[in-house]
Parts: sequence; structure tokens; C-alpha cells
Amino acid sequence: MTCPDELVEFVQQTPRIVIVGHEEPDGDCIGSQLALGSALSRAGAAVTQCNPGPFERREIAPYREQFITDYGTVDARSFDGVVVVDCSSADRLGGFAPIVEHLPTAVIDHHTTGVPFGTIRCVHPSIPATTVLVYSLITALGLEITPFEARMLFFGLSTDTGFFRFLDATQWESVAVAAELMRAGASPRATHDAMYHNRSRQSRVYLARALERVDFIADGAAALTFLTAEDAIGLGSDNRDSDAIHASLLAVEGVEVLAVVRELDEKRACAVSFRATGDVDVAAIAAKLGGGGHQKAAGCRIREPLVESLRVVRSSVLEALRHGS
Ligand code: 5GP
Ligand code: MN
Repeated sequence: MTCPDELVEFVQQTPRIVIVGHEEPDGDCIGSQLALGSALSRAGAAVTQCNPGPFERREIAPYREQFITDYGTVDARSFDGVVVVDCSSADRLGGFAPIVEHLPTAVIDHHTTGVPFGTIRCVHPSIPATTVLVYSLITALGLEITPFEARMLFFGLSTDTGFFRFLDATQWESVAVAAELMRAGASPRATHDAMYHNRSRQSRVYLARALERVDFIADGAAALTFLTAEDAIGLGSDNRDSDAIHASLLAVEGVEVLAVVRELDEKRACAVSFRATGDVDVAAIAAKLGGGGHQKAAGCRIREPLVESLRVVRSSVLEALRHGS
């Protein structure tokens, strides 16, 4: 995995850099932002970290304080350039979207879908996590990876690969990067425990609700379930353990596609998570609904109440399975 020279030159020649990640950030986004920010600071840049949030996912909550979340408090004139990480469309930058219109922008990403933006693009859909691309940028800058950067990069790689479960044999290079990160101080056990352990009791109730509501459709080739706004209020949205829900339902015999429809607070819209095993391209399903992502993990927003959103998702999944998406 080589890093384009123009990206290396861009970060070397930009004294005041703002790093921006996508809304509803995950471990790959946060890990990429914080590791890159640390390395660029060491290289002499003044770094500002922005992310629109919300920081709902439990494993990233500890990092919330390190980010500016309100674009209203940021003046684009205070920076010389932007690096956007893990984000395929400017609209996923939430309130920070205007910043890329005002400044030279480099994009480091691995999504298959989206509306390309930015002046310098380092976008590789075959790479399983953005942190692998950030690793190659830091090493191309001639810097040793610090233990903190190693932990952040390993966190991102573990997040997007389901702790290496989603990798196939062609992606061995990323495991070689993981070995280098361990050499630099990342611990798989500590990363795993931070990501998957110490879950609250409410999180098991959340999981139970998702499991008991599941509907198997298309002769059992797809599983469809939902979470309501009341679940989030009663159980606490930070107690939602999406990974456990996904893993439990994808493990069911015959299931190739999973869709989890989550009613949002205002009850007029839903967020949808798609997951696939095998060859069905859920990024294509999500893209048709205005979202995007990766072949095996994608998502979208539907501006309809829960019942209508469920109907839309059901028919999209059935159609994709009929036509092999
Ligand atoms: P998750 O299901 O974990 O929220 O998202 C899975 C993947 O789909 C992530 O890589 C994320 O970037 C992408 N994704 C989720 N929601 C959206 C969305 O509303 N729009 C787009 N373009 N991508 C999304
Ligand atoms: Mn990612």
C-alpha cells in the first residue's frame, strides 16, 4: 500500500491543518483522525480536530472531548487546508460540509460509494479500514508510529474488519500492518476488551428486543429487525450494541443480508444499517436509498416514519436478492 506523493506533499506544506471526519463517527473514523493528528503535530503542523458527532457509539465516547463539534465556532480562515478521513460524500460532514468548499482538501477514504469531492484523493475501496491508509501516510512522512498512534490505528482496523473476521485471504497486507502496530505498542486484547467488554445490562435488553422482533424474509435469505425511539429513551442510546445485534443475526443459517431499522428521536425518520455475508452488495442497496458504505456494511437515512421505512427497506432487500443486486 503506497501513499500518493501529492498527499505527502500536501500535509508537509500545510502549516495549519484541520482534520474532519464523518457524522456518527465509528472507531475507524476516530482512530484515523486522532492518529493522523498526533503524527502531523509531531511533524510540526498546527492541528485542529473537527467531527459533527454525535458520539453515540460507546467505544468512541471517551474521545468526544478531543473534537470541535460545532461548525459555528470554527473560522475556515484559521486554516491552510483540510484532511477529510473515512468519508465518501461531503454531506456526511454534517455542519462542517462548507469547510471543504473554502479550503484545499485532501480525502483519505475506503468507501465504494459516494459523491467524490476534494482536491487530492487517496481513496482505496479494497483497503478494509481508513487507518491502514493513515498508517501508510505516517510512514511515508518518515515518522515512527508512537504507541498512542498504534493503538488508535489498530482500533480503527479492528472496528472495520469486525476484529479481522471480515477479511479474506487477499487482504493479508492489512494484517501485516496490524503486526507492525502491535510492534509499536497496540494490544489486540486491550483493544478487543475496550470494544466488546464492559457492556451494560441494558445492552442485553436492547439485543433481546432486536432479536425477538426479527422477521426472516426471502425464504430466510434476509433478516429484518427494528429498534424504536422508545427503546433508545428507555434503555439509553449509548447502550445499543450494534455489533452484537449484527453478529447474532448474521450467524443464522441461510441469512445473507441483515437490515436493522432504527427509529430516530423525532419519529419522522429512520437510520438503517445493512450487513451482508457472501456476495450481496449492500452498498448498492443503501445507495439506491440515498446512503452508501461498503459491499458488506452500509447504511442510509430514510425520511419516513418507522412503519413506512420498514416497508421501503423490505422491498429494497427483496428486490436486491431477486436481481442479485
Ligand atoms: P453503520 O451501519 O455502522 O451505521 O454503517 C455502516 C457503513 O455504512 C459505514 O461505513 C458508513 O460509512 C456507511 N453509512 C451508514 N449510514 C450512512 C448514510 O446515511 N449515508 C452514507 N453515505 N453512508 C452511510
Ligand atoms: Mn471506515
